[in-house]
Amino acid sequence: MNQLRLDPLTGRWVVVSTDRAGRPMAFSPMAPIQADQTRPCPFCAGNEEATPPALETYGPEGHWRVRVVPNLYPAFEGSDPFVVTNRGPVFTQATAGGIHEVLVLSPDHGRSWSMLGDDQTHLVMEAIRDRIDAHSTIPGLRYSQAIVNSGREAGASLEHPHGQLLGMSFVPRELVEEQAGFARFAGRCLLCTTVDAEEDVGHRVVYADERVLVICPFWSGSPYEMLVIPRSHGAHLHHATPADLGAVGIALKTVLGRLAESVGDVAYNLVFHSAPYRAPEPYHWHVHVVPKLTTVAGFELGTGVLINIMNPEEAATTLAARVPASAHG
Ligand SMILES: [Zn+2]
Ligand SMILES: [Zn+2]
Ligand SMILES: [Zn+2]
Repeated sequence: MNQLRLDPLTGRWVVVSTDRAGRPMAFSPMAPIQADQTRPCPFCAGNEEATPPALETYGPEGHWRVRVVPNLYPAFEGSDPFVVTNRGPVFTQATAGGIHEVLVLSPDHGRSWSMLGDDQTHLVMEAIRDRIDAHSTIPGLRYSQAIVNSGREAGASLEHPHGQLLGMSFVPRELVEEQAGFARFAGRCLLCTTVDAEEDVGHRVVYADERVLVICPFWSGSPYEMLVIPRSHGAHLHHATPADLGAVGIALKTVLGRLAESVGDVAYNLVFHSAPYRAPEPYHWHVHVVPKLTTVAGFELGTGVLINIMNPEEAATTLAARVPASAHG
């Protein structure tokens, strides 16, 4: 039997398969990204001149460990404010002003987030914080979206692990829906309540330490989807404490490592959600981990209703049971 579960963040219903002995599932490993062999990787150490000058670097002089550069093909560009023009009854447009940056996770071409050292994950989280903080001071910008696409199926076009930071002149729909979800939720904060409720039942918890909880949410729309929630309530990632940022970086590394051990080297998206700069409450910043294991097909497109063929209880059991390979002796 399937079940409908409500995603309280977005207000959308999700179909979750509750059949433990469900249909056989085989997920395909990441397809290799076809690199242009004639050109050196622009994100590797030594090839810095292949990108525009860095906006920010972290690490000792001459030996950067995290690097932020402008995106060569920006989706949002320039300082035009968000002004809507109507060019006809159904032709509404606005300028796509904003910022689009690339965040190189490390100088190492072969190291994805799960393989970074704890210090390195901390630096990456600090870079995300600093860039959102910088965006928030730019007139006309309202919201920053940080993402990591890993693997071709998840939208990565370059193999070298990297993220993207987009500063936008409007608050996008997904955020508006989540803000409405927080506002709709009666009583305390929606995600503070989620932390307590999931720890009470326990069986969807993948990872917990004193600062962070990672769960396969009750309303998961896709297999092995995870939600990373800092315990300390705060609307803005760029106002989080260094300790919380570091803990989230390590939690991500840990659960991405378990995902790779459980399911194999699969593509995934990381989505960092933080409140719009000047509309903070009610909100609680968080990170979505969405492995790209299934295809969004006609029904999902037509209805906005996701069908999840693996229930999150089973996914969490699998992910939580994994221990680092070194612990096996
Ligand atoms: Zn590289
Ligand atoms: Zn909260
Ligand atoms: Zn979210």
